[in-house]
Amino acid sequence: MILFGSRTTQKLVAALIFVCTVCQHEAAQRLVRRRTWFTLFFVPIFPFGHGSYTISCAYCGNTYGVSRENADRFVADAEAAHVNAEADRILSDEDARIRGEQQQSDRD
Ligand SMILES: [Zn+2]
Repeated sequence: MILFGSRTTQKLVAALIFVCTVCQHEAAQRLVRRRTWFTLFFVPIFPFGHGSYTISCAYCGNTYGVSRENADRFVADAEAAHVNAEADRILSDEDARIRGEQQQSDRD
């Protein structure tokens, strides 16, 4: 006997903080990708299609579907925000180091 079927998985793709269109609160908006997989003996073998994307608000819980293009844009924005956060962290580390050196030279 061969056991086959399907299973839908959900995966958090990216998160961004912006004003929700429904509750008008600035909150984390999570991009989730849902995919349906063909399973054989309960093991996912291959996905059907590209899946669907939804964005859900962490504040009000509202969830709405988005196109693949908008999902790609969301991911690009999230990556840019991450890169900016990383750059800010490096710059503030550098500022702290320079300030430390200045304090050191003030003492000399
Ligand atoms: Zn909301």
